[in-house]
Amino acid sequence: MIENHINIVGAGPAGLTAAIVLAKHGYKTKVYEISSDVGHRMNGDFQGLENWSEDKDIIMLLKEIGIDVNFLCVPYYEGDIYAPKIAPLKIKSKRPIFYLVKRGSTNGSFDKGLKEQALSMGIELIFNSRINSAEEKTIFGTGSKRADFIATGIIFDTGTENLAVVLFNDEIAPKGYAYLLINNGFGTMATVIYKDYKNTTKYFKNMINFFQNNKNIDIKNEKRFGGCGNFFIRDTNADDKKIYVGESAGFQDYLWGFGLRYAIVSGYLAAMSIIKGSDYDSLWKKEIKPMLETSLVNRYLIEKFGDLGYRYIAKKFAEGDPCNFLKRNYNPSFLKSLLLPIAKRRYKIYGNI
Ligand SMILES: Cc1cc2nc3c(=O)[nH]c(=O)nc-3n(C[C@H](O)[C@H](O)[C@H](O)COP(=O)(O)OP(=O)(O)OC[C@H]3O[C@@H](n4cnc5c(N)ncnc54)[C@H](O)[C@@H]3O)c2cc1C
Repeated sequence: MIENHINIVGAGPAGLTAAIVLAKHGYKTKVYEISSDVGHRMNGDFQGLENWSEDKDIIMLLKEIGIDVNFLCVPYYEGDIYAPKIAPLKIKSKRPIFYLVKRGSTNGSFDKGLKEQALSMGIELIFNSRINSAEEKTIFGTGSKRADFIATGIIFDTGTENLAVVLFNDEIAPKGYAYLLINNGFGTMATVIYKDYKNTTKYFKNMINFFQNNKNIDIKNEKRFGGCGNFFIRDTNADDKKIYVGESAGFQDYLWGFGLRYAIVSGYLAAMSIIKGSDYDSLWKKEIKPMLETSLVNRYLIEKFGDLGYRYIAKKFAEGDPCNFLKRNYNPSFLKSLLLPIAKRRYKIYGNI
């Protein structure tokens, strides 16, 4: 028998997407959130809804899933890229490379937009409520449990014009990258590091110096923020009671930490598995797992090739449409399937619930 009441734990993008899809199909849903509002894990910082891993534009995907764009969502078609020992390069695409969104509890954020949609559909949001176990079928979208990468940065007010910059440099972001995003008087810069966590402050300072020296950014009212991301691949993400979505299912791009698309897609798949009575594991293994495994190989390659790899990526981004290059590399290929066993041995990130 199909249940018509579903509990969801975690009011992040994954949990709220599942709640909205279920509510659209007539399910009564309650969302339990440990914090006093949505977006508490985030900091009012800009993030990117990546638009390269699939042909379908992410806005079209949201529309098909039934999510309205009632939040700040700005397409970025171009940017600057820096890699060691080469001049900065310009990148440009015919389609949006990503959509800039704001995360956190403030008005206009992605989190707040999802919350408003959920409330308008009669979804009950229960804040200040930590749930760890389940007595009936429950969707868990509780985010990261461990740090596989650490991000530190600032948000700030600025008079500098809109821009997007990405930087590869192990002195600033070991095995990761740093980014600078500005939109209409507001900015975010951060370094995302995958190694040497004990020197986080040093990399943070290097990142600030780099962007100030190279981009001459006007920074006012800065606030520091930090966060982390988690990546793993399980054999199963569901048992008879719990269904895991988003980052709590390990769904994150291991190469660079883009997890929002996976959060949305997995929330949708979990909801559809309940609505249609289908097997969630089969759904995410078809739609998400091949990309997770590809991202594992990409991480292996980027760590192996260092500066050479950074320069290669920067040049590839700049010489054609970066979305085409990224799409090719975010999706499985014969070569990457050959490298997968080596990457698996290197990272040992497979596990079980
Ligand atoms: C600094 C930073 C920058 C990032 N930039 C990008 C980017 O540009 N693009 C991108 O695609 N991804 C980015 N990511 C990753 C992205 O933020 C995550 O992949 C995404 O938020 C995962 O969504 P989620 O719903 O699975 O988890 P979350 O957004 O973490 O939401 C989980 C929710 O569950 C709640 N919760 C946790 N435990 C419990 C409990 N026991 N009971 C009740 N509630 C609970 C939490 O409070 C939280 O609200 C970034 C991450 C960080 C840290």
